[in-house]
Amino acid sequence: MKEIETSRSPWEIALKNREDKNIYVNLSFDLELALNGSFWRGDLKSSLAYSELALANIADILPRLNASHIQYNVQICGGLLEPDFSSLPFLSAEQGECLRSNRKMFLLDESLLNDLKRTNVDAGIHSFSHRDFQKLSRQEIIWEIEKSIETYRKYFLAPPGFMAFPNNSPDNENVISDFSLCYRANNNGVPPTKRSIPKGLYWHPLSLSPEELKKLIAAMSGQRPLFLHLWQHFTETNAEQMQEYLNVLRMFDCRLVNMKSFLSLLSD
Ligand SMILES: [Zn+2]
Repeated sequence: MKEIETSRSPWEIALKNREDKNIYVNLSFDLELALNGSFWRGDLKSSLAYSELALANIADILPRLNASHIQYNVQICGGLLEPDFSSLPFLSAEQGECLRSNRKMFLLDESLLNDLKRTNVDAGIHSFSHRDFQKLSRQEIIWEIEKSIETYRKYFLAPPGFMAFPNNSPDNENVISDFSLCYRANNNGVPPTKRSIPKGLYWHPLSLSPEELKKLIAAMSGQRPLFLHLWQHFTETNAEQMQEYLNVLRMFDCRLVNMKSFLSLLSD
């Protein structure tokens, strides 16, 4: 079985104190396209293919989730919102050129932005450039968070509530505590806080098939109320596969929440 968070955060205790027997599920997507992804430092052709796949799946998945009023989270890299991203100094000449000549592959267009502004979506941040925080100084990490908040506010006209670190980079809890953000925590032994959401499960067909998800929920079903945080990137799952997962969640009458609605429910 995959990683399962066992330590209890304050909000998990609040969940357990609830009278209801719901299974709350949060579907969470990190959105960087191929920006500073696994191929970015050498194989830009593969990066472009990765972005193309993500954009195709997003265009298929978001309208379906939105039409069903399903609540979910999407964490966005600020660089995907900023037309002048390609001039930033940490990009190599080749990467800058790749961004300029393939800008559509790394920029969220208006229709996609409108899908992300729907009330069922809890959009958040995933840093600005998607550089690995483990390789950055504290100062650079603060710049990444501040810049992504500023960019987010410009496009969403409100502050973000939730952050996922690039590569789920560990040991950033001391930096994030200076910001009023909830965040996806790592299972790295740092004591959980009110704002840390356990990492949960990396959810895609090769990691957790719909059948495995069904078995997992069935096995945990006796421990209700439950919360499952399932995250991925839009590249791992197409719309048809997504539907198979949704069918499993429906089978157990799961309540699909986004982090904003879930945390406000717990603070009632
Ligand atoms: Zn990422």
